[in-house]
Amino acid sequence: MNFIISFPGLKDVLVKKVEEVGEIIRIYVEMDRQENRCPKCGNKTNRIHDYRVQKVKHLKWFERKTELFYRRRRYVCTCGKRFAEANSFVERYQRGSIEWNQAITIKAITAKTFKEVAEAYGTSPTTVIRRFDRIAKEESHQIGPLPEVIAIDEYKGDTEEGKYQVIIADGITREPIDILPNRYKTTIKRYLQKHGAQVQMVTMDMSPSFKAAVQEALGKPAIVADRFHFCRYIYWALDKVRRRVQQDFHAYDRKKCKKIKRIFYKGYDQLSQEERWLIERYLNLSEELERAYRLKEAYREWFTRAKDLGASQIRLVKQELEQLLERFEREGIPEMQDVIKTFKNWETEILNSFVYNYSNGFLEGINNLTKVLKRNAFGYRNFERFRAKILLSHRYKRIGKHIG
Ligand SMILES: [Zn+2]
Repeated sequence: MNFIISFPGLKDVLVKKVEEVGEIIRIYVEMDRQENRCPKCGNKTNRIHDYRVQKVKHLKWFERKTELFYRRRRYVCTCGKRFAEANSFVERYQRGSIEWNQAITIKAITAKTFKEVAEAYGTSPTTVIRRFDRIAKEESHQIGPLPEVIAIDEYKGDTEEGKYQVIIADGITREPIDILPNRYKTTIKRYLQKHGAQVQMVTMDMSPSFKAAVQEALGKPAIVADRFHFCRYIYWALDKVRRRVQQDFHAYDRKKCKKIKRIFYKGYDQLSQEERWLIERYLNLSEELERAYRLKEAYREWFTRAKDLGASQIRLVKQELEQLLERFEREGIPEMQDVIKTFKNWETEILNSFVYNYSNGFLEGINNLTKVLKRNAFGYRNFERFRAKILLSHRYKRIGKHIG
């Protein structure tokens, strides 16, 4: 057998023989004899010095482990220099072919664990991690200026750098851009000073340190409070009231009331008949719970109206929010007082969420994927590696699906 077929990754390679040894396929290959340039003097030569057989790991072929037995030729130049011929499929000192190395690199990014990749490619996890770290290092230097609209959020990453990490994403394309090792104000501030010159709008949850970092680093970009996050304060407050008042209920009602807590979050107009009956039963047991519930409903009404009125009537939205907060104040329910404070501190940012149509909702999806990555790898203590894994996983979502 002596033929040239363009196998993937084996361009211009002469296949001398293919054999099966147990489960392994061996492909015996050579390069054509041709003039090679001497690395020492630059002259061309095709004078053969000797051959050495090199075993090279290659991609599976017909689902079999495949090894190349490369009979590597060495030339000798008139100047005396001996050198290995050029070839297209394996780099010097490598035990795997170029294709094999590339496949491992891509799989190291997209697969669940490094171990799984190592097993599939017949190599050690250390080798896989080394490939991964190399591409991670190359890619991590590619963080350029941040876009005009960014979203900031935190998630629990539990790395050696800190319990919480901060994710920064493009508010328009919704692609994650970077991950910061911790959520301290100085960390975020320094990062924004370095990369944020073009940022004009930032969406975020209601973290005072995020806000301070943005304002101190970037001056006055528009900050948009994420709707989901500010709405949550209302539901949390109602929940606290429920937990407090139900302590005075009889055991049966206390358990039952806890069990149906989700019904409290729903809009009254969206409840089924049975749910209404349940809600009313517990609102009748506590006058304070009923007032808290009505405040929540009033809030829902304002929120729906604010979405409808939007940017064109933002003054009216503002006015109605202020009236609503006065009502919260008048009711004097302790758990609801914190809500007033938070909403007053974040009034502009909350109103901005009705002026601009940006939210942090999509980050939820990114953070969920992060949780999966973390679980699969039993946590990534090494922050840089985890950061790269998250960012590269998103970047390679559409690449390498059919490799390996
Ligand atoms: Zn030479």
